[in-house]
Amino acid sequence: MIMSVSESGVKLESLIDCEERSHLVRLATEDTIWDWDLTTNLVERSARAAKFGHPDWQSDPSMAWWERHIHPDDREATIAAFADAVHSDEMSVSVEYRFCKADGDSAYIYDRAFIIRDKAGLATRMIGAMIDLTELRLVKLLLRKTENRLAYSSRLNAMGTMGSMLAHELNQPLTAAANYIRASRHIFASAQSDDFDKIHDALEGAERNTLRAGDIIRKLRELVTQRGIVGADNSLAQLIDDGCSIGLSEAKPRTVIVRKTVNPSDLSVWIDRTQVQQVIINLVRNAVEAMENAVNPEIIVDAQRVGNFAEISISDNGTGIADDVRDGIFSAIITTKATGMGIGLSISRTIIEAQGGEIWLESSAPGFTDFRFTLPLFQISEQREHIDAD
Ligand code: ADP
Repeated sequence: MIMSVSESGVKLESLIDCEERSHLVRLATEDTIWDWDLTTNLVERSARAAKFGHPDWQSDPSMAWWERHIHPDDREATIAAFADAVHSDEMSVSVEYRFCKADGDSAYIYDRAFIIRDKAGLATRMIGAMIDLTELRLVKLLLRKTENRLAYSSRLNAMGTMGSMLAHELNQPLTAAANYIRASRHIFASAQSDDFDKIHDALEGAERNTLRAGDIIRKLRELVTQRGIVGADNSLAQLIDDGCSIGLSEAKPRTVIVRKTVNPSDLSVWIDRTQVQQVIINLVRNAVEAMENAVNPEIIVDAQRVGNFAEISISDNGTGIADDVRDGIFSAIITTKATGMGIGLSISRTIIEAQGGEIWLESSAPGFTDFRFTLPLFQISEQREHIDAD
């Protein structure tokens, strides 16, 4: 090939440029750059190799020097990975391993090399960078520890909330059960044969409420162990009936009129029954408490289909809700009751959102309060399950 003087001058200049640039790169980087000539089996290392503390890093240009300092547990696999790359037709290779330092510690290395091959595909040279990940790993470890600690303390926090929830939710069924048992004792004291039905009803009430208390504990334990909500097909009318009768049990002996409509009557929802029942109980119980001084206390429960959801409204003709209470009413610790804990609505929101629904305060005019929430309809969820399974 004929080359003019000026051309060769340019080539020489660019070569010098290239060498200089590569020298500068070696100085600039914190990584150990190495250049292995496979034809002579000699390795040239950048000055960063000194950081491992081995005094012979420069005087011993053999591959054996590097191999000797690979951590014994990683040595065989690391050497094999490089050998495999040399004998393959790959153009690059990267391996992670521990490299022993002179002070006895190990550095965590990410070694990435580029392979130069001749026309026949034979590897003739490899240029790589030993990137020291030790500090990064330490930071990651610290981060993971902090994350674990954070998760642990938020778990403790959640368990504290759970404890309050437990106290709040168990109070009602256990009080009801105690009342039923007390009533049975009184009836027994003056037992006449036609009182046996009453005793039977009272004991049945006690049994139902004790079972419900157990159910609540189980569900809360499931929440603590972070298991998902288990959805099932539930008749909405039945759910409303059960929730209302438990929610109303504290209202006795006051007469509260309850009007219920479910349209269409066979609406079926895909939800966790005990949890949603708890929401209905909370809303009905709040309504009963708000109607303490109402002349004709009345609760209207109305459920209907809206798209793929059932929308349930629970309204009452009680006190209504003052503006300052209304804002943030679903956040914890808002209460106007002497013995209230202010977490019933916040729990209700958590439950409804976990089922895929929404809950809101539709209206709170004096003498009229209307809470609403939505629940996914059974048919739609079932179809979604089938699609997911496919
Ligand atoms: P708690 O019942 O323990 O106070 P909740 O979270 O269930 O906790 O309710 C928060 C507050 O919202 C109640 O203290 C009450 O002031 C108000 N509230 C809830 N429901 C009604 C209702 N139906 N009518 C009037 N006020 C209500």
